[in-house]
Amino acid sequence: MPLLGSIQVASVVYLSLGSNIGERKKSLEEAIKELKTKLGILAISSVYQSKPIGLEDQPDFYNLVIKARTDLNPHQLLDYIQHIEVNLGRKREARWGPRTIDIDILLYNNQVISSDRLVIPHPRMIERLFVLKPLLEVEPELELPDRKEVKNYLEKIKNQKVEKITEIATPRRGSQ
Ligand code: AMP
Repeated sequence: MPLLGSIQVASVVYLSLGSNIGERKKSLEEAIKELKTKLGILAISSVYQSKPIGLEDQPDFYNLVIKARTDLNPHQLLDYIQHIEVNLGRKREARWGPRTIDIDILLYNNQVISSDRLVIPHPRMIERLFVLKPLLEVEPELELPDRKEVKNYLEKIKNQKVEKITEIATPRRGSQ
């Protein structure tokens, strides 16, 4: 039997999750529960609280980062996270209200992608401390596809207000 031909190598992805409406921690936990049905969760960061950037007259965000394995290709993964965003948002919010959960794909293996719907690495990730703090918590020595170290981008954004508040109420590490 051609063993090698049947081996499927999963991809490693990093996702950023954020919520600033309703029960923020619960929304993060529900999103993780959904993600677990299709992804192999490898690590989950603590929850960080951050001040909104841009439109400041709104509640603080709760943010975290997940490292996971997936057999989905990048666009299938985008479809999947958008499906989760819509489902969780619809549960509690008015029809046209803001979303309870925002999920971004930060990195997908070492791939560089630029399509109409998807840009990877996420173009704003290195400008946001609420992304880099939890990301470096799960992978301190992480490199971008261009081999630059993620931690080198911290200095420029260190004044942004981001505080670690708690660990998520689910196991931090899934089975390998
Ligand atoms: P936002 O509302 O800020 O989460 O932006 C969502 C939009 O960004 C969607 O239309 C996506 O198609 C697009 N997008 C582009 N790159 C990414 C990415 N790496 N992760 C998630 N959404 C992305």
